[in-house]
Amino acid sequence: MSTLEIRDLHVSVETKEGAKPILRGVDLTIGSGETHAIMGPNGSGKSTLAYSIAGHPKYTITGGTVTLDGEDLLAMSVDERARAGLFLAMQYPVEVPGVSVSNFLRTAKTAIDGEAPALRSWVKDVRGAMDNLRMDAAFAERSVNEGFSGGEKKRHEILQMELLKPRFAILDETDSGLDVDALRIVSEGVNRAKATTEVGVLLITHYTRILKYIQPDFVHVFVDGRVAEEGGPELAERLENEGYDRFLTAAV
Ligand code: ADP
Ligand code: MG
Ligand code: MG
Repeated sequence: MSTLEIRDLHVSVETKEGAKPILRGVDLTIGSGETHAIMGPNGSGKSTLAYSIAGHPKYTITGGTVTLDGEDLLAMSVDERARAGLFLAMQYPVEVPGVSVSNFLRTAKTAIDGEAPALRSWVKDVRGAMDNLRMDAAFAERSVNEGFSGGEKKRHEILQMELLKPRFAILDETDSGLDVDALRIVSEGVNRAKATTEVGVLLITHYTRILKYIQPDFVHVFVDGRVAEEGGPELAERLENEGYDRFLTAAV
């Protein structure tokens, strides 16, 4: 049983006009095996939260703490966070020209485990995970994210998650830009990881659609850089019907 704990987190982003405060006191605790949905309007700071936890250099922590089983995550390098079991599926995955999916996955696995995976079982695991995600075998030889369609990028993110087996996975709008079939395939991947490991999931989304496939245990409404309301799955249904207007007017 592990716990990812975010306490009173304040974060600014560096812009040309100087530091701009985005997160304004975020509190959130995620336990192993739990799925937390963060829902909120565009620009509310959801990606900023994801990047801040993962250690993106553009975001400056101005207050608060993030701990993993009591260890100060914010004091760790990006690599150390990954080795500690943190995984981020980015909203806009970056291209890595010249590095094949196959090499990328193996390098990441080796870095996280501290040793290279046994070749035979690794090849089998990769094939199996790609089959499950309906990815063609030839995909493994393409450069990471280069020329990938939106759906291929998202599948590749979930492929990483399934193979790297993180303790906590932050999935930033993994549903955006997916058609219904791709959404189902990607969701099944997340559900497989949930069924076979104790991964805690922070599922960031703008829409309730993905929550029909991936059942959240908790729903947090994110507005203006902080959690404005929390509840169970029923809160997502309410948002489906009412949208975010209620929170936006309340925030002014
Ligand atoms: P969300 O993911 O909820 O749509 P973001 O975290 O991407 O929100 O952005 C929150 C706010 O921070 C927005 O107003 C956005 O314009 C601003 N912001 C985020 N990153 C940057 C950046 N690198 N430079 C300038 N502004 C940024
Ligand atoms: Mg975002
Ligand atoms: Mg589970």
